[in-house]
Amino acid sequence: MEVWVIRDGQISLEASLLQGLDPADARRMLGGKDAAMTPVNAFLVRMPGKTVLVDTGIGKDPEEDSGHLTEQLAAAGVQASDIDLVLITHYHFDHIGGLLKADGTRAFPKAQLLVPRREHDFWLQDPSRLPERLRGRIPKLKAIFSAYERAGAFRAFEEGASLAPGLRAVAAQGHTGGHTIYTFTSEGHELWCIGDLIHFGAVQFARPEAGIAFDLDGEMAVQIRQAFFLKAARSKAVLAGSHLPQLVRLEPKGAGYLTRPALQP
Ligand SMILES: [Zn+2]
Repeated sequence: MEVWVIRDGQISLEASLLQGLDPADARRMLGGKDAAMTPVNAFLVRMPGKTVLVDTGIGKDPEEDSGHLTEQLAAAGVQASDIDLVLITHYHFDHIGGLLKADGTRAFPKAQLLVPRREHDFWLQDPSRLPERLRGRIPKLKAIFSAYERAGAFRAFEEGASLAPGLRAVAAQGHTGGHTIYTFTSEGHELWCIGDLIHFGAVQFARPEAGIAFDLDGEMAVQIRQAFFLKAARSKAVLAGSHLPQLVRLEPKGAGYLTRPALQP
């Protein structure tokens, strides 16, 4: 397998979004700054016989530095129509924003769109369970998924599903109701596309107990982050985070982790 980091754009995250951490510590870890410029990544994985895209970025938004997905794919030698599978970690705007073109048609005309059943139901099955501030997003979500459904190119899978040889979906709720991690295994190496398991690389690896205000269930998000970091350090998996500047491996240090760039010898 081959993997490319596809940088759709970047967003600024305020340090005050961090939870469960002394603000002075957060500031110090961010180099004295009150905010961190954070990439918005998708990941392109070329597997035997399949070209896979994990998440799709923000899409074009006049108020954001975003929507670079298509040109980034082209730089990797891939057209949108070459993508066979699109996998979604969760339904926040910076992960699903690139699924439709401006005219409302599918941005990936030959791809199957695979989503976690639990995440899909969390947003769309019973809106009354959704926090009120999120309900306004439902029409946009419906437009996205019905475009793929109408084309017979949509499938919701169950937790833990094996999606292709060497590709598995692993439930990682907390950030949202059905947030999901994708693990790719090739020749004894593991790559985990961890979505929004972590937002502030400079803070939350060393202090995984720190959460972010976007986590729907903060306590569960912390537990899940701790559990996955522990497993990642043991298995030497390469972590590909939607909001991390590079691919990393983890080493335990104290109550947290050190990162090593995955691509360095
Ligand atoms: Zn995100």
